[in-house]
Amino acid sequence: MSQRKACRGLIKPIVKRPLMVIISKATEKQQLLINFLRMFIQRLTTQMNVLMLVLDSMSHMSYQRLLPKTYAYLKDNLKAAILDGYNIVGDGTLSAFTPILTENSTINRGFCFGPRPKYKYIVEYVKDFFKKYSVAPKFTVATIAGLSHANNDPVASIDLYLKNFLEDLRISGYMNNTLLIMMGDHGQRIGKLRYTTQGSLEERLPMMSLTFPETFRKQYPHLMKNLINNKKRLSTPFDLHETLQSILNIYNAEKPVKYTDRGISLLNVIPINRTCQSAGIELHWCTCKKYEILNTTDKHVNQVATYIVSHINQMVQIADKMCAKLTLKKIYEAKKVYSVVQISKPVASIDRTEDDTLGVLQYQLTVETAPNNGFYEATVHKVIANNSFSVIGDISRINLYGDQPNCIIRTYPNLRRYCFCKKTIDTDKH
Ligand SMILES: [Zn+2]
Repeated sequence: MSQRKACRGLIKPIVKRPLMVIISKATEKQQLLINFLRMFIQRLTTQMNVLMLVLDSMSHMSYQRLLPKTYAYLKDNLKAAILDGYNIVGDGTLSAFTPILTENSTINRGFCFGPRPKYKYIVEYVKDFFKKYSVAPKFTVATIAGLSHANNDPVASIDLYLKNFLEDLRISGYMNNTLLIMMGDHGQRIGKLRYTTQGSLEERLPMMSLTFPETFRKQYPHLMKNLINNKKRLSTPFDLHETLQSILNIYNAEKPVKYTDRGISLLNVIPINRTCQSAGIELHWCTCKKYEILNTTDKHVNQVATYIVSHINQMVQIADKMCAKLTLKKIYEAKKVYSVVQISKPVASIDRTEDDTLGVLQYQLTVETAPNNGFYEATVHKVIANNSFSVIGDISRINLYGDQPNCIIRTYPNLRRYCFCKKTIDTDKH
């Protein structure tokens, strides 16, 4: 402890002027973020800034494909810990940030980080901010959405620019006391790739990397060892929240953890036998599950598909008959899914706890509906004894809905993905 004191002097006098920056359009719900930043900076004990640079809709794979220079610089030059098993816990940007900042899995939807200014403006702003307030502790969240949200490919054009930005940060010495988190909030949620199993996995496995300052790495080699081991383990935004908490109180970073703890600091030991269930990941979002492809013409599969569509119709009923009743157009893919109990075990020894032997089955289906030509991916739980169904987690809309839900977008923003306004049908006819 005395060593730490000797390093830079204690933080108290500086904290009188907490600083923060949010680079995106402010909304009411961003108070959540502001509260977190304020609390964080006031309690910071490690003299470490945090810079989160978020590229919207970028999976770990997409980051490697489209930003090879940035990725290599992070990995080789900055010695970033890049997580292979970072798994989202809900749908969209909101669900990616809420657990990080609040420890809860959901808050009201309708929270939005966009629209955001152009990437250069954002990156230059971050640079200026670091230059201008070089001494004060900072927690910065910057989100770049325009280049990757609907389609990842345009992001490739800023690879060199981003790499140079990281180089700048390092040369200017800002990395000496900054935890850099380069991340995606989730992978691509819509489009052709998303219809494939690969795309389905990529949405759930966003880029997540943590670069700790060299001094910190040297001072806490045991914590760094934990972090490196955790690269191959199942981790979530809940863990990132715990990681930020442990930076606030670094002496508590290795507090004892239980296998059942939902959030565990990435600087601590994440149990090797962790499961989606113990990590708080619903089966729909879980990437540690085993699949069995089913025939889409199967009677049972059809029952599940019919249930999904009726569930959607039931959800939109609240919108006072504004939304058209959907019908099943096509079943694209059907899988039986099994929760994997031990991710470290080889596939052959996977323990099927929720198997048909227990009287329940789980399906994941991709279906198309009419008249909205909506593509949906849903995970459904079936109790065999009474042939009853329930949806697990969210029903993902995996193609664009455009202005289909215009009539309810203000009144029922939660239903955007499901509502095809009847008015649209009318105008189409004329
Ligand atoms: Zn997003």
